[in-house]
Amino acid sequence: MDHVHVGVADMPMAARLKAIWNALDQVTDPEIPVVTLRELGILRAVQLGDDGVPEVVITPTYSGCPAMEQMADDVRAALAQAGQPARLVTQLSPAWTTDWITPAARDKLKAFGIAPPAGSAHVNLPGTIQFSRRSRQNDAVACPQCGSDQTTEISPFGSTACKAQYRCLACMEPFDYFKPY
Ligand SMILES: [Zn+2]
Repeated sequence: MDHVHVGVADMPMAARLKAIWNALDQVTDPEIPVVTLRELGILRAVQLGDDGVPEVVITPTYSGCPAMEQMADDVRAALAQAGQPARLVTQLSPAWTTDWITPAARDKLKAFGIAPPAGSAHVNLPGTIQFSRRSRQNDAVACPQCGSDQTTEISPFGSTACKAQYRCLACMEPFDYFKPY
């Protein structure tokens, strides 16, 4: 099926919601360009509003996160570029947690040089979330460069407020740690 020449209003709603997801899957974190907002668990759902208008549901990482406005702008831009009008809806509850960051995104963070939040979480994409929390206190922060867990915190704040700065005692490299939240 080729929808290119079909107006958005003529598209079946299921196709529109899918097209919206496809567009949003391109939207990456403004500060970490290797992971998408969906993978971070910020993009919660694409749904049909009561008035028949598609809605994009986003959950802010934490109140006062300076990147949230940029993320909302990026979502709007992606929707506009795809020609898929939708309303942005902010959902505050349940509150976002780093447990929602997908395993694939954790691997990408590591490859990017950022230690993902310590603790085991078995998370799938929005809709099918399973939690397996462990005590975070006992989880060592592994160096994203060499994998050593002999690491120490240099500063509770790294390049952004949601990250801490660490140094690896094995390879001596400093790195950002995405703090569990
Ligand atoms: Zn290291």
